[in-house]
Amino acid sequence: MERLYHSGRILTMADQDDAPEAVLVRDGLIAFVGDLEPARAQLAADAAEVDLAGRTLMPSFIDSHGHLLQHGALMALVDLEHATSIAEIIVAFRERLAQRDPRDASPLIGAKYDPNLLAEGRHPTRYDLDEISPEIPVFALHRSMHVAVGNSVLVEGAGLTAATPDPEGGRFGRTADGTPDGYVEEHPAMAAFMPVLDPEGVGGLLPGGAADPTRAVQLAAEDYLRHGITTAQEGAADPTTVDGLVAAARAGDVALDVVVYPLVQTGTSVYDAHPDFAGDYVGRLRLGGYKMILDGSPQARSAWMSEPYAPVVGDEDPGCAYPIHTPEEVEEFTRAVAAQGRQLIVHCNGDAAAELWVTTTERVGAEHSALLEARPVMIHAQTVRDDQLERMAPLGMIASIFSGHTWFWGDVHLRNFGPARGRRVSPARSALDRGVRVTMHQDSPVTPPDMLLTIWAAVNRISRAGRPVGLEQRISTWEALRAVTTEAAFQYGEEDSKGLLREGMRADLVILSADPLATAPQELRDLEVLATIKDGEVVYEH
Ligand SMILES: [Zn+2]
Ligand SMILES: [Zn+2]
Repeated sequence: MERLYHSGRILTMADQDDAPEAVLVRDGLIAFVGDLEPARAQLAADAAEVDLAGRTLMPSFIDSHGHLLQHGALMALVDLEHATSIAEIIVAFRERLAQRDPRDASPLIGAKYDPNLLAEGRHPTRYDLDEISPEIPVFALHRSMHVAVGNSVLVEGAGLTAATPDPEGGRFGRTADGTPDGYVEEHPAMAAFMPVLDPEGVGGLLPGGAADPTRAVQLAAEDYLRHGITTAQEGAADPTTVDGLVAAARAGDVALDVVVYPLVQTGTSVYDAHPDFAGDYVGRLRLGGYKMILDGSPQARSAWMSEPYAPVVGDEDPGCAYPIHTPEEVEEFTRAVAAQGRQLIVHCNGDAAAELWVTTTERVGAEHSALLEARPVMIHAQTVRDDQLERMAPLGMIASIFSGHTWFWGDVHLRNFGPARGRRVSPARSALDRGVRVTMHQDSPVTPPDMLLTIWAAVNRISRAGRPVGLEQRISTWEALRAVTTEAAFQYGEEDSKGLLREGMRADLVILSADPLATAPQELRDLEVLATIKDGEVVYEH
């Protein structure tokens, strides 16, 4: 099958000034990039033409760090664990509803609410949940999973009235006149909702199968593809996660490329266990190397720093936080991975963690060049210093930066670190200026896999409160686009097949509503992904 794209802005990502008229896709690959006339001349009779009508075609986005399966599992349910009021429960459900396809009428299910943590000190009722939707079934599970609440769609769909008796071993909550208020206690009472929640009777208690890895992969893949991402990462896999992904890949259920990095502390034998995934993708899955985590996160004041955090109320005499592993363990893990010649990607948020990873790489890399040839990565790199970036460049160590931090937690960082260090989080400009390759990620499920929001954040550096967060660390739109296409392809060692529009590359493409290079920086996050194409096939359409 051939498809010819033309009449729009085509970004090759090789050079900003490239302006080809047409891209021809054949058998999942890019067959031609150039003028329209010679492209048409080689077109097969049954080829389809796609008139871009002024929209923008470019390589699709590549996620340089995230947790695909976990993102999918959480997507299956609305997280109510942190709700402190019934209003917050309603907001959490509404946010999920806003993310869904408006045509999706499947039940909305949330989990882990706890009345002890709610300001009202009671369970929500059907009347509370009716504020979320009067049409879609809404079901909130208590933390214990033994108690739940349904909205009126569920109560009425179950046929519960004041005349309905409580079931054996269960109880329905009721208003003063005996009308069921949506509260269902114990499984016999919860079972009343099941014909509405799960009409086909496949999902048991949890329609949407939170624990089913195939379902989680599918949900996450849909979300990534919706955001124009066609290569994702499983960036800290335990053996169960690896097995789940392998099963999904063998069943042909993986819709985008997934690169898996088992956590190094769970052992370094995964390549022996799954030798067929050690090389190229099989069923869109492959092993990328190993992951190591050296510290916590700056927003939680657990990133391991060389200088203490700024004092705040409740933490008046703060320290520097702490490492997760001793230097000896880090050295041992690094040597084990180097001996296998695998890539090692390492979570470093604090500059003390960055120091340990850079120093270890210098020492081990001097003995085992395979460690450096495999392209070591510093994941997050939130507070890496200029002197460390200068040492990363000759090592070829890539900085995969969590650039959305300036938006999501910029205000927190200014408080946690004080103005001088706080404004320097996600130092992409410093990295690029020192010759360090930069990629960008969302660390999903920590933040949504929204690459355009990430690009906007890196180019604008504005906090949620509207404060500038170190404008001197801004990068250009072109640099941000490169980070999530060509540079990310390089991080995965896939620069010969992804990240550029060039003959012979895989046809992993995205169509955007407008040309990001011609879009005002502050409006970049308003661009829309209109279509995502994986290996030549349209896998998402707006
Ligand atoms: Zn991390
Ligand atoms: Zn992560």
